[in-house]
Amino acid sequence: MPLVSGIEVINECTTRGLVAGAFNTTNIETTMGIVAAIEKVGVPTFIQVAPTNVSLSGFEYIYDMVSRRLEHTDVPVALHLDHGKSLDAVKDALAADFTSIMIDYSEYPYDENVRVSKIAREMTPTTLALEAELGSIGGKEDDVAPEFAAHTNPQQAAEFVAATGTDMLAVSVGNQHGYMPNAAIDFDLLAQVRDASPVPLVIHGGSGLPDAQLARLHEFNVVKVNVASDLRNAMIRTFGEAYNANPKEASLIRVSKDAVAAITDVVEKRIRTLNPSVA
Ligand SMILES: [Zn+2]
Repeated sequence: MPLVSGIEVINECTTRGLVAGAFNTTNIETTMGIVAAIEKVGVPTFIQVAPTNVSLSGFEYIYDMVSRRLEHTDVPVALHLDHGKSLDAVKDALAADFTSIMIDYSEYPYDENVRVSKIAREMTPTTLALEAELGSIGGKEDDVAPEFAAHTNPQQAAEFVAATGTDMLAVSVGNQHGYMPNAAIDFDLLAQVRDASPVPLVIHGGSGLPDAQLARLHEFNVVKVNVASDLRNAMIRTFGEAYNANPKEASLIRVSKDAVAAITDVVEKRIRTLNPSVA
């Protein structure tokens, strides 16, 4: 089926009590691996790419690759801009027909975050989903690290959502990007944000969180959980192991297929962990 709007993924997950995984792609192997897992589990999903990873190929290439691979898939999937750190990135992703957008001005002071997120909302048709971030998520991923990390203030959540018109709220409640040893969800804070926010929440940094925490997120109106490092690591590990086993290894297609299988495994496990009811 064609790509669906992020709104459709949110609505279907909310109605069915599901949490959508949001998996970052970079290339064809990652895309094939993600979609194979989605087809196995049947849970609506986001496939996403951040501007840092678009630098290899461009937004149009990612759109063509993802939408072509999904042509014969009957699970709803939205194509999402992850960490749009500028309005130019938003513009480029929309021009390439992405169906869901994140504006991330969370590192700026509150008023500036509201101002720019509001412009992103004006640029993004309301038929497409918008994600904005309140509080700043720490950790390091692909050499992008925020200047500082700050927890989401529950007292600002309702006002921020109303002022920006965002459809999903990315929160910083102990989650961190990448593999940070001290990443852990503060569930008391998450509950306070959930109670204050009129829209569903997004948790970034899914790779670094223990399964037991991921499995509880559906109780907290979390609709989207981002997972990136796990997929990248699965691909890099597969190639590294092939080289270590045989430094003269030259079957790129065999190792690439192994990488696809490794990514499928990771994505399938994460979707099932996030959705204990699907098992
Ligand atoms: Zn993130």
